[in-house]
Amino acid sequence: MNVEKGKSNLTNVLVVGVGGQGVIMVSKVLALICQSNGFQVKQSEVHGMAKRGGGVFSHVRFGPEVWSPTIPKGEADILLALEWAEGLRWINYLKRDGGLFIADTQKIFPPFAARNRNRGADVGYSPETPREILELVGDGYALDATSMANELGNLRAANTVLLGVLSMGLDFEPQEWLDVIEQLVPANSIEINRLAFQQGRDWFAEMQNIPTADRHTAPEIKPNEIVQSVHGRVKLEIVEDWCKGCDICVKMCPERCLRLNGEMIAELSKPDACTGCRVCEWLCPDYAIKVGMLPALEVVS
Ligand code: SF4
Ligand code: SF4
Repeated sequence: MNVEKGKSNLTNVLVVGVGGQGVIMVSKVLALICQSNGFQVKQSEVHGMAKRGGGVFSHVRFGPEVWSPTIPKGEADILLALEWAEGLRWINYLKRDGGLFIADTQKIFPPFAARNRNRGADVGYSPETPREILELVGDGYALDATSMANELGNLRAANTVLLGVLSMGLDFEPQEWLDVIEQLVPANSIEINRLAFQQGRDWFAEMQNIPTADRHTAPEIKPNEIVQSVHGRVKLEIVEDWCKGCDICVKMCPERCLRLNGEMIAELSKPDACTGCRVCEWLCPDYAIKVGMLPALEVVS
């Protein structure tokens, strides 16, 4: 599908994800390109609990004349999801006929998903696989953009990989996208973002001519298998100077792998048990914990 960059029609693009993923950057890039092409653009966004891993979404509408900044349910020409469950949550905003679904298969578990804090317990996360979802949409793509960006050397460029995919669904020139991306990313990451953008475009091109249900590159695994597969491969950093020893992370870690040391500073006592769920990062009132994003996942049997 190629959404016409409507000289006569309104085009609706809904970008969704969770805090810290760059949803607003993606929608800003799109809005600036539309503007520089002479379209009227309206962009609205909500990022209430973004700092705590909460949902973030942004509506971008462009065309010859745009009245309302919000996309009605069932009217999105494109739904671009930076996180898998957020994509599913918003799927009924996508046009039933001809809507384009693009999603990173990255799964970010919200704190409430770990409500049973026994080790290895079920997590409350959408169990649907990419194939199951792609079968429901008219036109869809599900890719492990995070791992692709990781392989390039910067996980944070996952949103640029997705911009590359998005760029294939709208007929603005690739150079226009790159020019805007360069304006918005840090100078030292311009090259990686260029590569990430091109990877997204190349991946989209590879997926052409195959049935929608097969346009995914993520492993067909359920959330609990993912939890099992990442043990021991998470980078967790604690800024000691910021930790005031409140014990919240220790109490709330579903895997019981944090403790307070003799100086009442949080430390990771069982690195192999950490699943990278980020509950500690989101709940720390002092932003003292940073959980590294995960490398490519392997299925464990
Ligand atoms: S240490 Fe943090 S990221 Fe690791 S399992 Fe515990 S809460 Fe999750
Ligand atoms: S929640 Fe934050 S401040 Fe509290 S013990 Fe953990 S790292 Fe330290």
